[in-house]
Amino acid sequence: APNRKVPVEIHPGELTITVKTTRKFHNTRVKDILDTWFRLSPENIFFISDTNDQALNQSTNGHLINSKCPSSHNSRALCCKMNHELDFFVQRDTKWSCHFDDDNYVNVDELIKTLRQFDPNEDWYLGRPSTNGPIKIDDSEAKSEFWFATGGAGLCLSRSVIHKLATYVKNHGFKHLGHRIQSPDDVTLGYLLEHLLNIRLTIIDKFHSHFELLDGISEKKLHSQISLSAGSYDEHRENYVKVPILFSHDQDPQRILNFIMIY
Ligand code: UDP
Ligand code: MN
Repeated sequence: APNRKVPVEIHPGELTITVKTTRKFHNTRVKDILDTWFRLSPENIFFISDTNDQALNQSTNGHLINSKCPSSHNSRALCCKMNHELDFFVQRDTKWSCHFDDDNYVNVDELIKTLRQFDPNEDWYLGRPSTNGPIKIDDSEAKSEFWFATGGAGLCLSRSVIHKLATYVKNHGFKHLGHRIQSPDDVTLGYLLEHLLNIRLTIIDKFHSHFELLDGISEKKLHSQISLSAGSYDEHRENYVKVPILFSHDQDPQRILNFIMIY
């Protein structure tokens, strides 16, 4: 069809995407990703989980990584997984390294177009906060104030940043840091980058988590967003992007299948 978009070609060594997941989501969220946006760049997308899964490892062409971290949702387990993602970024050494959650839809074309506007040899910490201001941490040594990019919206780091992070993340350094400041993975990353390494977050408002009100994104602008999500805004409110519903809630709880109709 004349309007069919030709995907942007991603060069070898240009991009690494890790998706944080856990055993219980392999057959639901991860399956939906494999059916949709994984296909846009299967060479560059990897799943960081907490168990072996032969079938999934096969369907991802060996892109399932067992972090052996605990499969729970506490800060310790999540920092353990983020440590693995960061170790993997160091090992891959691509121009750009991006993290997403398994309830994200990623518009890989828009992601790469956006990244190409920045120089990977400079320090870039790209993402979107879900707080209205910097957060404050009172660790034993000093008070600190810093911004962090919400993990649930996705975030990207330039190769230059990855090189600076390397000494901090080896030997479980990131996990230990998270434990010391008693913070979740994305907060710990903000602390490490902004507070310890003096690398400031650059806000890209094309990243979206379900911790912002998603029905505020206008339908006209959906195609130019980098990431979308779905879930709950808080205990009281379900939070969804406004898209034409072609798959029912039961078929598509994260609306991932519905998103493909936009792109
Ligand atoms: N997750 C995990 N272990 C768990 C629960 C969740 O690694 O025990 C991952 C999950 O796969 C996702 C992210 O953590 O990538 C966020 O999980 P979820 O969307 O369920 O919760 P949220 O924090 O967004 O409310
Ligand atoms: Mn979520």
